[in-house]
Amino acid sequence: MDIAATAEKIAKGDRRALARAITMVESSRDDHRAQATELLETLKPQGRQAVRIGLSGTPGVGKSTFIEAFGCLLTGKGLKVAVLAVDPSSARSGGSILGDKTRMERLSRDPNAFIRPSPSQSQLGGVARRTREAIELCEAADFDVILIETVGVGQSETMVAEMADLFVLLLAPAGGDELQGVKRGIMEMADLILVNKADGDLKPAATRTCADYMGALKLLRKRPQDPAGFPKAMMVSALAEEGLNTAWGEMSSLVQWRRENGHFDGARAAQARFWFGEEVRQGLLRQLETPEARAVMATLAEKVATGDMSATRAAEEVLARLGGA
Ligand code: GDP
Repeated sequence: MDIAATAEKIAKGDRRALARAITMVESSRDDHRAQATELLETLKPQGRQAVRIGLSGTPGVGKSTFIEAFGCLLTGKGLKVAVLAVDPSSARSGGSILGDKTRMERLSRDPNAFIRPSPSQSQLGGVARRTREAIELCEAADFDVILIETVGVGQSETMVAEMADLFVLLLAPAGGDELQGVKRGIMEMADLILVNKADGDLKPAATRTCADYMGALKLLRKRPQDPAGFPKAMMVSALAEEGLNTAWGEMSSLVQWRRENGHFDGARAAQARFWFGEEVRQGLLRQLETPEARAVMATLAEKVATGDMSATRAAEEVLARLGGA
């Protein structure tokens, strides 16, 4: 790959160059990784900033319907929208569930939209790096908004929240116990809770659910990165395309406030620090996976099991070797 030429094409918004570059960052081949790193470094000086929006919700809540409608609303405003998906479960099925273009037919045909299905990866650590790099590539390709979609399970939310400027939680209207169904930790990450399906017969339930969440959000500790009124809960209907413009207005005003008050860049700097530490940790873990390290571990584990060596001493021995590697 000609790095300089590819970088130039991406900076001009060339889709195919962008798609190929993302394939490169998703690759596990060492030569691809090296090229990807070089490409990202070449693109970095452009310094373009998109609004990165993390979007989470359990399957069936209406994420693809929402992204399709919301994405089209944004492209209708002249904005360029990229959609990336993070789906740890796709590792199990070996294919992509989220980000499937057939789920967002209208948006995928839109010349101002770019949809990238989730790569199938076994390790969340690997997914994190690839998603982060794909975000950087889309940003360099001058997208205005990057939607990062994830399913509402496990650690993927935390990961997405650590790479997004805003975190949006999509919920469906439900009975009274619904509140307990959302983990407190996930709610604490949300900047905006959207109660979807606020239409037809579901409207009264949506209204109640929304009120419940507004109440619950008020009880959370105030965060310095929030202006008055945030985090916020509101109703939308992705299907009827209602409330979407208002939701975008809330997101925009939050971003603007954070930019004006230094929280936007501050959060990105904190995220960069976080991912640096994370990369180092992942790198150390990878060192434990080499055949030599596994053999050493197995031998020492045996000694620990039979009482010939203490767990502490054996661990020290392994760590000392890693340090010298
Ligand atoms: P995802 O699994 O979160 O991506 O959910 P989908 O977007 O595939 O939607 C799941 C189901 O909910 C589909 O049958 C949608 O038509 C329906 N749905 C999505 N949004 C709405 C909405 O705003 N109102 C109603 N009534 N149904 C919706």
